[in-house]
Amino acid sequence: MGIEDKDKAAALIDIYNRLFASYGPQHWWPADDPFEVVVGAILTQSAAWTNVEQAISNLKAAQALTPAALHELPQERLAHLIRPSGYYNAKALKLKAFADRLHSRYSGDLGRLFTLDTATLRQELLSIHGVGEETADSILLYAARRPVFVIDAYTRRIMSRLGLPTDKDSYRALQALFAQNLPRDERLFNEYHALLVRHGKDVCRKIPDCPHCCLRALCSY
Ligand code: SF4
Repeated sequence: MGIEDKDKAAALIDIYNRLFASYGPQHWWPADDPFEVVVGAILTQSAAWTNVEQAISNLKAAQALTPAALHELPQERLAHLIRPSGYYNAKALKLKAFADRLHSRYSGDLGRLFTLDTATLRQELLSIHGVGEETADSILLYAARRPVFVIDAYTRRIMSRLGLPTDKDSYRALQALFAQNLPRDERLFNEYHALLVRHGKDVCRKIPDCPHCCLRALCSY
């Protein structure tokens, strides 16, 4: 029986419980502070996390991983430091845009930006160059600790294979499925998304390893 045939809330909790039993806690987001989460969320666009880690480590070594330092850093130097993450010129522009907005409207203080209510904060993030829905929601969930579900390619692929309707364009529809059928709990959303990423990387890959899948009993793929 596919997930579309079951009660959605029960099915989503069932999926979560099976993933958690299989992988355990994922301890996301792997960062020292909320600003590092923001930088990581931008750098991870179209990049493997190991490459993002190298770019972040370069920024740390150059003492450039603060809002003030990033605001002051010349763009060419920034692009050089984040080169391992790929698309480094475009990503340097995006990081500068974020640091500049923080500087001009919030005195360079991420905490001040995060005093906005969730809907306003989401709009503010989306209005910054280079911040799309997935990046904005990653910042909301993992840096600002708001109960906002992040939809990414792993989530789409797994949910689609499990039998959920996932129109490619409907980021908000898939997000609403989680938001409307799960308790609005930031810790749950954090762990759930991290588990989906783990499952998408390890088992439900492009070519899925179904015989070793903890969700096999629920899957109609
Ligand atoms: S059974 Fe296969 S397709 Fe379905 S979720 Fe598991 S790995 Fe993915």
